[in-house]
Amino acid sequence: MYNDDMQPTSKLEFFRKDISFIKGIGPKVRDILKPVLGSNITETVSVWHFLKHIPRRYETFQLLDGMTDEWIDKSIEIPITVIEHSKLKFSNRRIPFQVKVQDGLGQFLYLNFFSMKTYYITSKFPIGAKLVLIGKGKKIKGRYVFYHPDARPFTAIELNDEDTTKTQKIQSIYPATANISQKIFLKLQQGILPHIPDIGSPYDKFLYTSFKFPSFKQAITELHNQSETDEDEVLKARQKLAFDEVFVSQFSVKLRHYFKRSIKSKENIIYDGNLLKKAKSLIPFELTDGQKVATDEIIKDISSPYQMFRLLQGDVGSGKTIVVFLAMIQIVSRGTFQSVLVAPTELLAKQHFATLKPYADKLNINIVLLSGSQTVAEKKAIRRQIASGFAQMIIGTHTIFQDTTEFKNLRLAIIDEQHRFGVRQRSSLLGKNDTVDLLLMSATPIPRTLQMMMQGHMDISIMKGKPANRLPVKTSLISSNSVDKLIERLKYRISNSEKIFWVCPIIDESDTINSTPAIERFEYVRNILGDKVGLLHGQIKPVERDKIMADFIKPDGKVKIIIATTVIEVGVDVSDATVMIIESPERFGLAQLHQLRGRVGRGDKQSYCILLSKDISQNRLKLMTEIHDGFRLAEYDLMHRGEGDALGIKQSGRSFFNFVNVFEDQNIITASTQYAQDLFDEYRDILKDIENSNKFVKYLMKNNPDLYLILSIFKKSEEGTDSLGC
Ligand code: ADP
Ligand code: MG
Repeated sequence: MYNDDMQPTSKLEFFRKDISFIKGIGPKVRDILKPVLGSNITETVSVWHFLKHIPRRYETFQLLDGMTDEWIDKSIEIPITVIEHSKLKFSNRRIPFQVKVQDGLGQFLYLNFFSMKTYYITSKFPIGAKLVLIGKGKKIKGRYVFYHPDARPFTAIELNDEDTTKTQKIQSIYPATANISQKIFLKLQQGILPHIPDIGSPYDKFLYTSFKFPSFKQAITELHNQSETDEDEVLKARQKLAFDEVFVSQFSVKLRHYFKRSIKSKENIIYDGNLLKKAKSLIPFELTDGQKVATDEIIKDISSPYQMFRLLQGDVGSGKTIVVFLAMIQIVSRGTFQSVLVAPTELLAKQHFATLKPYADKLNINIVLLSGSQTVAEKKAIRRQIASGFAQMIIGTHTIFQDTTEFKNLRLAIIDEQHRFGVRQRSSLLGKNDTVDLLLMSATPIPRTLQMMMQGHMDISIMKGKPANRLPVKTSLISSNSVDKLIERLKYRISNSEKIFWVCPIIDESDTINSTPAIERFEYVRNILGDKVGLLHGQIKPVERDKIMADFIKPDGKVKIIIATTVIEVGVDVSDATVMIIESPERFGLAQLHQLRGRVGRGDKQSYCILLSKDISQNRLKLMTEIHDGFRLAEYDLMHRGEGDALGIKQSGRSFFNFVNVFEDQNIITASTQYAQDLFDEYRDILKDIENSNKFVKYLMKNNPDLYLILSIFKKSEEGTDSLGC
């Protein structure tokens, strides 16, 4: 009925067809399927809705009557009845939410869930429900315990089968509800799979062969017919569709962005590159490759007619400051243009100013610092310079966001440590001028793939690598019992004019947290080392904090060791700090530990990070001693935290995609995103003459039917029929 020569529009029609055309599936069954195949389907339930509803399992599970020792740690399925939910109202990270069930042999099994929303568990395992439990069990204190198991309803076949004790192979089992039998899905399979038209991959010409993807048609067929396909092929099939899915999502975001982006000028902005060249020649070190690439990307953006919205991400110490400085230089090289760099703390703003002023002076650029601690008169004078346009480069703190700060011609706004600012503050900067390019800086190592999904609406520059003279920070895990020995060793470091950070998770005594508080640790260390020790935490006045820190930063300052809470986490650069001690490190995420560790190891001396723990057997902490790559640590954190992790990425990652597994498909996501970018870049010239996305879709229909089809098929159903939601 369908063949590959047909028009793209009729191919698309097939995927959009209401499934009631299939034999045995009438409007009634279709209506039952609606909520199963996608809750936001309003009218039709299309062929595509079914196709993206992939069977849930392709592993061969053993269906048992009940749990026995020989099946411990093996994938099994067991018929169960749900008996009881644990009484806990909320789930603490350490105490699981527990569901008690009874298996076919009459014995009780215990299902444990950590850090998950209770309603999610109770709706999956309602009391009294008869289900098939899926997972691997353990035996703990004589009880069978399952951690985060899954469950499914019985299939019609299983219900009719008298002898459930025998081992069974489960075939393509679709996620379903109890009132739809798997037979219906079989009918859908038979009515649809043989007729799927094939679609070429629009990115094939970029595709390197290592993926060895099947064709679209083959992939989707195999995915639905898993019982006839081997596991490797099923994986390839899923990955091919995951690739398409990411491709479409990235390409559409770019398109949407393109048509929505505000235009800051009619054409490219031409800068006189001489000032930038001169600035580069003043830098006393060679830029790393990562710095060069990021600088080029940013400068390209600020020269383009479209507003920049970019995130610059680089590990702590990777040298982001100099990169944004070069961008600021380029901006001010156009006579009246101004640029601003905002930092979250006074101290950091001052440090940026101190770093950049010498360069600016040599280049005859007027640079000013606007900060909260200045007197009213000082602030007024500086604001006047900003308003008149005399100040070309402005460094500041939150004060910049106040209405009283007016710019003459602000063109570039940069926000350092962007996560420390609120969305409103960021947009208030933009509100000052709708042609302002915005650059956010961050060291928070969120894995790139996840970032793309969270921040698909912005461009991202990832700065890889560190300045070459850096030695990795030697990290060790030692018992908190040896604290006296440790302090003894610090004496040598201090005599060698090296400086030390010592971080405690809490300021003061706490009932719930068993860790030495900063204040107590301060007293303790001061008794041994005297007035070389300073104390820094959030309850100390900012002015005082700045004083202590300023003294610490000075090569000849009195304070050599700072006992602090995580207030020191943000951006300060103390090049002769060589030791970072972190107390009760188990209280921190790995990414955060890494961030703290990044405060040392910035000079050319060997630096050390010492994790002081009551329990040094923890594998998670051992990773810190082996891995120095913030991205990998953050990834580990994400994978091993509970379902409802802090960033909420797991949840959204899952619901956002049908085929993608954001944790396993990192290389697919990265490659696919790159191809989306490459292909999009090829279309830039053509896009110039196209007014909106609908017209672009029409253009593609004629000129690149594969791209047209893939975009149209995969696009989210809620985005309307004929546009790409632009
Ligand atoms: P971060 O990315 O954490 O903000 P900074 O911009 O504060 O890092 O840079 C950390 C330190 O590294 C600074 O002292 C800076 O002068 C130095 N630095 C930056 N780039 C290089 C480089 N390419 N070679 C040597 N040192 C560099
Ligand atoms: Mg920084």
